[in-house]
Amino acid sequence: RAKADGRGTYCFFREEMAHTVEARRILELDLRKALANEEFELYYQPLVNLKTGRITTCEALLRWNHPVRGTVSPVDIIPVAEEMGLIVDLGRWILRKACMECMMWPQQVSVAVNFSSQQFHQRDVLNEVRYALEVSGLPASRLEIEITESSLLRNTQFTHDVLEQLHAEGVRISLDDFGTGYSSLSYLHSFPLQKVKIDRSFLEGIDNDRPLTLLRGVARLSADLGMSVVIEGIETNEQLERISADGTVTEGQGYLFSRPVQASRIRQLLAASHGRRPKDGEKLVL
Ligand code: C2E
Ligand code: MG
Ligand code: MG
Ligand code: MG
Repeated sequence: RAKADGRGTYCFFREEMAHTVEARRILELDLRKALANEEFELYYQPLVNLKTGRITTCEALLRWNHPVRGTVSPVDIIPVAEEMGLIVDLGRWILRKACMECMMWPQQVSVAVNFSSQQFHQRDVLNEVRYALEVSGLPASRLEIEITESSLLRNTQFTHDVLEQLHAEGVRISLDDFGTGYSSLSYLHSFPLQKVKIDRSFLEGIDNDRPLTLLRGVARLSADLGMSVVIEGIETNEQLERISADGTVTEGQGYLFSRPVQASRIRQLLAASHGRRPKDGEKLVL
């Protein structure tokens, strides 16, 4: 039996199945077949510039359309794919697909692709990125790679070299879910990062008058270090208003603007808005 996890996707493996060895074996077999059977799909969620109201970037979010289980969440897929060593093949598919789909959109927005730690630390990572750009024709300046603090834990020469090289080639690096992990503020200046996405947990309670102190502090620090600042998980107009007040936050992302939607829908959204600034009080997208 499926149970909604509140984000429109379903988690099947946790409750009844996750613990059994047999269930895990079946999941792995299914995952291996899924890539060949083209059961994966990328949904996209816009990032919106809070000053202009325009969509700047669309983040690719993995979905698995399982023939029996229905839609499976990336939270259930990625860790298993990492353990199986499937993440390299899956990650390659995601990156190329995202670059190719972005090229078909009616506006020159950027595409953001999530990289798991293992994917980021593979030896061939630079060539994977270059190849995806080459086959799709997408300019490097329109690709944004989202990594999390866990990718920076391995603070090695390799980590620095990859980030420096991507930066030199014009790809933007965005630090995702900032504030949830090890939260070392030193990451923000020891690595060449262009964007910080502050985790949505920082928004909890702020529409019931919880002070914005922490969120504002992290946002200012990031901005002072020259990074763009994104707040993820914006769901209400109150949150948006309070976040926008001091102008530190560059972009927002969340259900208020749009849930993650299929590629065909994001094309329609981009065609309909066409770089147009929304009128006052008008919903940006959806
Ligand atoms: P993330 O990269 O931080 O992506 C944001 C997640 O928050 C997405 O969940 C999105 O649907 C959800 N979200 C966006 N706005 C709101 C909001 O206003 N309220 C709430 N409650 N949730 C919101 P999703 O798609 O289930 O993805 C979960 C995580 O799985 C992602 O977090 C990312 O870490 C990982 N993931 C997704 N796709 C990929 C992928 O292609 N590769 C890798 N390596 N990881 C992926
Ligand atoms: Mg992300
Ligand atoms: Mg995030
Ligand atoms: Mg997140």
